[in-house]
Amino acid sequence: MSKIVILGAGIAGHVAATHLRRKLPKKHEVVVVSPNSNYQWVPSNIWVGIGRMKSEKIYFPLEPLYKKKGIGYKQAKAISFYPEGDKTEEKPYVLSEYVVGENKGQQEKITYDYLINATGPKLNFEATEGLIPGKNKAYSVCTYTHADHAWEGLNALIQEMKKGKKAKILIGTGHAKSTCQGAAFEYILNVEQELRKHNVRDMAEVTWISNEYQLGDFGMDGMLLSYGSMTMKSHEMVEMVFEDRDIKWILGAGVNKVEDGLAHYENLEGEYKTEAYDFAMLIPSFSGHGFKAYDKMKTILQRNCLKDL
Ligand SMILES: Cc1cc2nc3c(=O)[nH]c(=O)nc-3n(C[C@H](O)[C@H](O)[C@H](O)COP(=O)(O)OP(=O)(O)OC[C@H]3O[C@@H](n4cnc5c(N)ncnc54)[C@H](O)[C@@H]3O)c2cc1C
Repeated sequence: MSKIVILGAGIAGHVAATHLRRKLPKKHEVVVVSPNSNYQWVPSNIWVGIGRMKSEKIYFPLEPLYKKKGIGYKQAKAISFYPEGDKTEEKPYVLSEYVVGENKGQQEKITYDYLINATGPKLNFEATEGLIPGKNKAYSVCTYTHADHAWEGLNALIQEMKKGKKAKILIGTGHAKSTCQGAAFEYILNVEQELRKHNVRDMAEVTWISNEYQLGDFGMDGMLLSYGSMTMKSHEMVEMVFEDRDIKWILGAGVNKVEDGLAHYENLEGEYKTEAYDFAMLIPSFSGHGFKAYDKMKTILQRNCLKDL
């Protein structure tokens, strides 16, 4: 009999847990360790952030499902890794800490035969001064709670625009090293469309700010799109869409500081500039979680290498 421990119940961890449970004989144990009580379908946050979907529609509680499926579940966060065990525990384990209930704060050595680390990215808001979701009129759609706040902020601004306020909306990346430009691209188009729906499009200046070198780069050097016999580059496609929708753009921008209604950035020419806004959604940079791994003698084996990238 084997025990498989999966850290994280996001897209990767949840899929791994449910497939393993389905494919492995019952004698093997599948255990998920994750601090969130809910599974969320992250890509739909671009709809929550414009009020078109309620956040309740994109998440569900993990515990009842895992109970029904025979998957073990611990609402805890991994802290450090002991792949050789230690002086008192022979098996490899992950030191974890419970985050809710009567066990809150209690640590447990969760042993395993096989380990899947699916803890995803750490949303590294701290890397950009003042970039705190929901503060400084700058929002995020990286989680459903962030997206709920983004819609509250956007909706409040739309109501002011209906009374005659002219507004500046800034959407894109909030750090020189941010990735996930695609999510911000989807969101800016959603926001622009939502402004039309509320008949306030003419009251808003909508601007894309991005660390990309070229429009349509999306952090992967662009794409080739084919339509019938025609081939189009993604920068041509995005430029066409932005021009058609009157969306302005700032490229090669590494946002390094956010104040109430003001984003500071450095461009590829080394110039320091600012852009004012009444509502912003800026994707933070991502990093690893900073876990450490120890050998049997509790000497550090390795830090999470992603942390320093
Ligand atoms: C708005 C938005 C739209 C997107 N749209 C798309 C799209 O259309 N297509 C696409 O391919 N990608 C899209 N992405 C990217 C995609 O959502 C991510 O690549 C994906 O969620 C990553 O999955 P993951 O399981 O690796 O991490 P996550 O989904 O982030 O899950 C990580 C899990 O680990 C848990 N965890 C964190 N710390 C610990 C710890 N210490 N111990 C244990 N567990 C921990 C978390 O609670 C979570 O359950 C989008 C992203 C965003 C933000």
